[in-house]
Amino acid sequence: MNKTQSIQIIEATLLDNGFKYIGPGPNDYSGALDVNGKQIDVKLSIPDVRFAEKPRVSLTDRSQIPLETLAHIDSGDGGICYISGAGLPLDMYQPGEAILRVLEEVKRTLGLSYKGRAQQEFIDEYQLYWRAKYGASIFLPRSSATGVVEASAFFAKRDGKTEFIAIRSSKNLSGYTLSFFAKAQIWSLSENIGPSEKIKVPLHYSELNDWLSSQKLATEMSWSKAEKLLLDEGLLILSAPNAVVGLQLEVPAHLKSAVARKRIRKGKLADLLLKSRKNLKLLRYSCSWCSLEDIASRNCLGSQTLKETSVALVGCGTIGGHLARMLVQSGVGSSGKLSLFDRDSLAEGNIGRHLLGFGDIGKNKALAVKAELERFHPDVQVYAHNGDAMTMWRRLKQHDIIIDATGEWNVQSAINDSFLSEDRGNVKALLHSWIFMNGAAVQSFLNLGDDYACFRCLKPDFAGQWRYPAGNEDEPLNLKPASCGDGAYVPFSVDVSTMAASLANKAVLDWAIGHPGPRLRTVVVDFQRGRTQKPVSPTPSKLCPACSHSRGSP
Ligand SMILES: [Zn+2]
Repeated sequence: MNKTQSIQIIEATLLDNGFKYIGPGPNDYSGALDVNGKQIDVKLSIPDVRFAEKPRVSLTDRSQIPLETLAHIDSGDGGICYISGAGLPLDMYQPGEAILRVLEEVKRTLGLSYKGRAQQEFIDEYQLYWRAKYGASIFLPRSSATGVVEASAFFAKRDGKTEFIAIRSSKNLSGYTLSFFAKAQIWSLSENIGPSEKIKVPLHYSELNDWLSSQKLATEMSWSKAEKLLLDEGLLILSAPNAVVGLQLEVPAHLKSAVARKRIRKGKLADLLLKSRKNLKLLRYSCSWCSLEDIASRNCLGSQTLKETSVALVGCGTIGGHLARMLVQSGVGSSGKLSLFDRDSLAEGNIGRHLLGFGDIGKNKALAVKAELERFHPDVQVYAHNGDAMTMWRRLKQHDIIIDATGEWNVQSAINDSFLSEDRGNVKALLHSWIFMNGAAVQSFLNLGDDYACFRCLKPDFAGQWRYPAGNEDEPLNLKPASCGDGAYVPFSVDVSTMAASLANKAVLDWAIGHPGPRLRTVVVDFQRGRTQKPVSPTPSKLCPACSHSRGSP
């Protein structure tokens, strides 16, 4: 169907439904919709007949909608937000039906206002209506903020330039210089906030007491507490289930400069502000919870994140780099620490499939990945060790889990041996992640030190075959040639590394929630060379040189 045909069909459909063309665009119409028996006039504009850009619908006459607080209506242009979070799929090959579907959705949205649901919808979107001038990022875990929490508001600067406002309890944030600008209090409310009877959003100080007293505050939150904070130029943050908003007094310019020139003592300012309270305006902030814990828990609704888990990641190469970031995105480094181990430096040849890029060439991989993670989130607790992890067992054993992402047989065997024979300290699990045979497949294997196999049980005979091979080991391309330097380079593409990292990250998440599932997991990447293996929890091999003696004879 070409564009002209689509336009003709849309036009015919709309004219048939009582709409008329008004321009100025080629697809701008006006008409009326029957909303619960009442005619509501709307304008319809279709910027794209393939609907990649959605049709716009707005009210012609704002006063036709009875409720002051109607949700989903932009108070500026009267645009109607008729598409829910799930989106509205439209069929570009049936443009007539598609446009009728849009009108139906608009009717449904407007209809809600007559059923008394508008107020609720408005409350759900309260943060948008707050129309804040400033944004503020709260770097405290939302779960730890109950009742009234004292904090500070800082300008977070980089290269001397303020990038955002940070709410924190301490004056450090990786990668930023923090400069104090106000005291802050976070009031955590268990119920939604919203408009009071008269005040949609408080704009002036004189409205604040009224608005605040209509919210469901806990006993430790009072007008006098808010007043004291605000007159002291502090920032009041209300964190409710539906919105997180901030308020501060706008100190008039003449008072500000008088304080700056020391004409007025700072202690006197509160009195002067109180005297002119009738004319004082409020500064509004739109706040968001930005702690690493909150970032991770957003995607793990109802399930546990890795926030309490401390992880030692051995190997920050092609698997380890991607895995390090996935672990942080899953919560590692918020309460529990993440330690990185690698003795190699990043080379030009690495960056085609590494997390790091050109700017890090020549740097130690562990240190550079640490810097990258701190850039990803300034609050991550990450430590980097430039050296051979196998000489640092005392450090390794301080973590809950050791992840071996080296993919090197010798290191895999050595870590397995240490896990079996050394004092385990805090370590409850050992996870290996590797790429099978030049990118044919990826595998992960979890060892909990229990009755299941150890890593070496997977290939007990050094010269023999893997028990669960993910590819044909005899195929020429699967055999690594022995060579030095860059000649040892094995070509496979970045998808293989990220799949290995993904498989390992999922294995850690499953283990952390207490359902470790199959210990050995395989994903075939190259369907010609790879060999499918079902997920399995292998039993120990009687021939395993690493664990058979310690397990004793059956
Ligand atoms: Zn074994």
